[in-house]
Amino acid sequence: MVPPKAIIIASGSELLAGLHTDTNTQFLAQSLRRIGIGVVRTLIVGDAYNDLVDTFSYALDRAQVVVVSGGLGPTVDDLTREALSEATGIEMVESPYALAEIRERFRSLNREMSENNRRQALVPVSGMYFSNPNGTAPGLVFDAGERLAIALPGPPREMRPMVENYVIPFLEQRYPGLPRESSVMVRFVGSGESDIDQILREKVPFDPRIRVSLLARLGLVDLTLYCPTSEKEDLNLLEESRNRVLEVLGDYAYATELVDLSEVVGLQLRKRGETLATAESCTGGLIGASITAIPGSSRYYLGGFVTYSNESKVSQLGVRPETLERHGAVSEQTAREMAVGGVKALNAVWCVAVTGIAGPDGGTPEKPVGTVWIGVASPKQNWSLVRRCQFFGDREAIRERTRITALDEIRKALKKVAL
Ligand code: AMP
Ligand code: MG
Repeated sequence: MVPPKAIIIASGSELLAGLHTDTNTQFLAQSLRRIGIGVVRTLIVGDAYNDLVDTFSYALDRAQVVVVSGGLGPTVDDLTREALSEATGIEMVESPYALAEIRERFRSLNREMSENNRRQALVPVSGMYFSNPNGTAPGLVFDAGERLAIALPGPPREMRPMVENYVIPFLEQRYPGLPRESSVMVRFVGSGESDIDQILREKVPFDPRIRVSLLARLGLVDLTLYCPTSEKEDLNLLEESRNRVLEVLGDYAYATELVDLSEVVGLQLRKRGETLATAESCTGGLIGASITAIPGSSRYYLGGFVTYSNESKVSQLGVRPETLERHGAVSEQTAREMAVGGVKALNAVWCVAVTGIAGPDGGTPEKPVGTVWIGVASPKQNWSLVRRCQFFGDREAIRERTRITALDEIRKALKKVAL
């Protein structure tokens, strides 16, 4: 069977106006792809009836599967149902079953069902409907044989479970045996996208069956390799290719699955039974926040200091006033004393410290905006290391890059310093 193509449509004037972010499309695209249905376009359309009919017709001319989210509510501006009926030429009738479910839903919420909710019991004469245990609007399938149009409620907490529980199983049954893409990933930190691309080109000739995707964001790079099927040969090919990538770029790789850098660092600390403290200036607690975002981090994270002023660096971390006077708050010496001070104050095995100029003001020729010193200290082998970084971008980007690089410095230190 030729794999069907899909078009995803988000309907809602609030999306078109940029007042609300369309997250449904992303979720639907990932869900369809997982079962081998490729998405060829995604569209956003407002609530006007003619625009809806026009957009649905456009999509039905170009794809076998059209999935629409939004516009199934009970109010006058919810017209997806009627517009899909017109675009597919499939009439609707009131379903006593759907109506009973909607009535039951209102009863369970102790609410009166109003007359306009009755529209939500309209279902296509050719097709089916999906129950909605999290809302009143059922999902609808307009089944025109070669073409399918699926309408889903807009609120993500109603749409997502409906997709997982009903839509995906329905499509899998409708299109059995579709080849499913397989993939492997490697997550990198500390080397730019173009460096990684260059090294891969020079040292890892990928098989032509493999599709390569590189995605970079603020100091992190994700490499994903795809093969067209999930057959054994393709899986082996991906596995071999990933191993080759790790041989060449292993130092920069922090994960081979979708986990955060802070989670990877946490896992290492947990395995070693060691503890961590943080001493932050220009990041104002971002590092600590990302470490504590991981459940179970209390097993290894002792706490942190946000020492934004010189005084607090002295009083909380024991940085020497002479150091600040001589070298400044943004300096190798201060970063080292902050890290050492954090270790002492919390009796930690590790402390990472950051001090830098996030901008937009405060830069000088010697220390331009983006200058950041990152220090890591440990009483083990009296270990300490301080590194100067020069980051680019706005304040937010500099702070985020500092956070990522600080976590990476701990990751590398844990690799270097034996248990
Ligand atoms: P509707 O089904 O059009 O009445 O949508 C109800 C609500 O669902 C909207 O007000 C949004 O908050 C949310 N919603 C609708 N479409 C989307 C979408 N594509 N992405 C995220 N949220 C959405
Ligand atoms: Mg709407």
